[in-house]
Parts: sequence; C-alpha cells; structure tokens
Amino acid sequence: MELFDVTIIGGGPAGLYSAFYSGLRNMKTKIIEVQPVLGGKVNIYPEKVLWDVGGQPPMQAQLFVQNLVNQANTFSPTICLNTKVEQIEKHGDIFVITTNNGETHYSKTIIVAVGGGILNPIKLEIEGAEKYEMTNLHYTILGLERFRNKKVLVSGGGNGAIDWAVELLFVAKEVVVIYRKDQLTAHESQVEKLKEHGVQIMLNAKIQSVVSNDTKTAIEQVIVSQNGDIHEIQVDDVLISHGYNREVSLTFADDIQPMRKDDYYLVGQGQCKTSVPGIFGAGDIISYDDKVNLLIGTFQDAVLAVNNAKKYIDPKADQYGMVSSHNEKFAEKNKELLEELFCKAEAASL
Ligand SMILES: Cc1cc2nc3c(=O)[nH]c(=O)nc-3n(C[C@H](O)[C@H](O)[C@H](O)COP(=O)(O)OP(=O)(O)OC[C@H]3O[C@@H](n4cnc5c(N)ncnc54)[C@H](O)[C@@H]3O)c2cc1C
Repeated sequence: MELFDVTIIGGGPAGLYSAFYSGLRNMKTKIIEVQPVLGGKVNIYPEKVLWDVGGQPPMQAQLFVQNLVNQANTFSPTICLNTKVEQIEKHGDIFVITTNNGETHYSKTIIVAVGGGILNPIKLEIEGAEKYEMTNLHYTILGLERFRNKKVLVSGGGNGAIDWAVELLFVAKEVVVIYRKDQLTAHESQVEKLKEHGVQIMLNAKIQSVVSNDTKTAIEQVIVSQNGDIHEIQVDDVLISHGYNREVSLTFADDIQPMRKDDYYLVGQGQCKTSVPGIFGAGDIISYDDKVNLLIGTFQDAVLAVNNAKKYIDPKADQYGMVSSHNEKFAEKNKELLEELFCKAEAASL
C-alpha cells in the first residue's frame, strides 16, 4: 500500500496549483484526473485570451494551462489521468479512494478540486443531430482558424455563447446569434461588441430543425422559428452554447459526508476546510462568503487547503509555507535559472 500525504482530486487550476504548493511543503502528493489531460475547464476555451490573471501578460488559455502544468510538476507529484474518483471512505486515519477502473488509493488527506464536476454540454435536441458533430456542429471551439471566412450560427445568449461570438468576429465571414429569450444575458460590453460589428442577433428565436447537404454529412441550413415566423439560414458551421449538465462525480461514505450547498458544492468552514477533518476543498467546488469563481481565486484556495492539510498531518508544522525567496527548496533551482538567464544575456550581447 503506497500512502500519500495529499491526494488531490481534479487536475484543473485549483488542483494543479495545490500540487505545486503541496510539493513546496514537502508533502508526498498525487493528482487524480478523470480526463486524459490536465487543465480542467480551461481546456474548453483554449484559444481565449486571458487578461485577468495577476502578474501574467495576456495569453491564450492553452499556454496558461501549459504553464500551470509545468509549475505543478516542479516537485514531481504522481499524476493519474483517465481516472475518475468514485468513492471516498475513511479506514482509521487513512482515506481510501476508489476509482472507476477498480484502483484503490490511500491518503492521509484529501483536497477536493473537482470544480463544477464533470461537465457535459447540453446537446441540440434534434433527432440525428449527433452525426453532424463530426463535421460542422460544435459545442465548443478548440481552434478559431477552423472558422476562417465561414458563416457561423451561434445558438445561446449567455456569457459562453457571446464570448465565442465575439472571438469569431475576427475570423468568420459572418456571425449570426440566435437566442430563445427576449434579452441576451451575457456581459454588456461583449454584447456591445457584437452590435458595433453589426452582428445579426435574433431574440425569441430557436432552432427548429436543420437541413443537411447533399451528402447528408453536414448542416447546410438551419430552420429558425422566431415569434411564429420561420427563417431559413444558410450556414457553414453551427455552434451550440446552451450550457452544461453537471455530473456529480464523486461520493463520500456516510460517516464522512461533507456539508454541501445546493446538493453539490462543499460548504467551506473557513480556510478551505470542509466539515470533515482531513478533507479540504479548493477552486470552484468550495463555497464560502465572498468567493470568486475565477482562476485567481483557485490559487488562494489551493494555498489555504494545502497549508491546512499540512497542519492536519503535523499539528506542529508552520501554518504557512515560506515565500519563494526564503524557501530552501528553490535555492538550487534559482541557481540553475539564474545561470541560464546569465548565459542568455551573455549570448545576446555578443
Ligand atoms: C467559458 C469559460 C470562460 C472562463 N473564462 C475565465 C477567465 O477569463 N478568467 C478567469 O479567471 N476565469 C475564467 N473562467 C473560470 C475558470 O475557468 C474556473 O474558475 C476554473 O477553471 C476553476 O478551476 P477548478 O480547478 O476549480 O475547476 P475545473 O477547472 O472545473 O477543474 C476541475 C477538474 O476536476 C476534474 N474532475 C471532476 N470530477 C472528477 C472526479 N470524480 N475524478 C477525477 N477528476 C475529476 C475535471 O475533469 C476537471 O479537470 C471561465 C470559465 C468558463 C466556463
């Protein structure tokens, strides 16, 4: 039986930063992630440019994920991908984690960092529509270039849909937005951008059916009903952004049930503790007053969760980790980095 100090469930931003910080605090760390890749929800917007992460220049989300993963690997945690945690129990002092592939993992503490759970996009409710997912029916945008000079119909009016519509403005030939309600619910500034670019926005409108091309492989036309009228819209691509269904991914044994909010979120008890000693939460999954569900918020949560996991294992440990300038774990790494920088500067001056 290999026993870990900390097992982090979920390899999104909260889980990745927890792994880095846990290594910094000398704890034997494991991350378990259900997807084949790390990065969490950020992977659903890889080309979006992030502007609001402190101290980082604007960068595409996929680069941000890469940086997070590199940082998480600093202290070489064990990483299990394609592994869904299903059940957590406690035997004596040890948490026992069982997964969908029949494995058992053992840990002194748990950091739950499962975000919004396993998210499945709400699909277009039209019989047979799934066959177009191979061609021009999309539920997210993995690369904008795919849409260059195309006419794209975006269905949805929330932040997800409108953010995509704005991104598409810069590559697509034309963007049409349809939304079932009488007002878009996305951020005003984003809606303004669509209006400034003269995007056709159809409110009280929904997709009634789709017409395929001659080879029946792609959508050629979308039939939209709006206030009793029918519109036939020629398209190259269709993007559906109707939100996500959440799969509540993991369960806890009866004797270690953390308090939940809305049957899902873990109720924080201060400092990212849950109501169960030894189980901590970080990122979108944990709920407390004044919580911000943003990338920057996940880092604060991770630090609190890790520091409290450390104290749980060793009550005499310092409450806080050393800042990086004083932390001996970085001394050797700093030397290597500074030498590398020095060599680069010298090469540049030649
Ligand atoms: C479209 C969109 C745009 C956004 N834009 C921004 C932005 O510009 N700036 C910003 O600051 N924030 C933004 N956010 C919010 C930000 O992405 C989230 O706050 C952040 O991803 C939360 O990180 P997390 O690690 O808590 O959860 P997640 O990113 O959701 O990661 C949770 C991970 O846990 C895994 N998991 C779930 N259940 C299990 C299980 N049972 N076993 C194993 N693994 C499991 C999931 O697969 C996932 O990888 C955006 C969100 C969305 C949806």
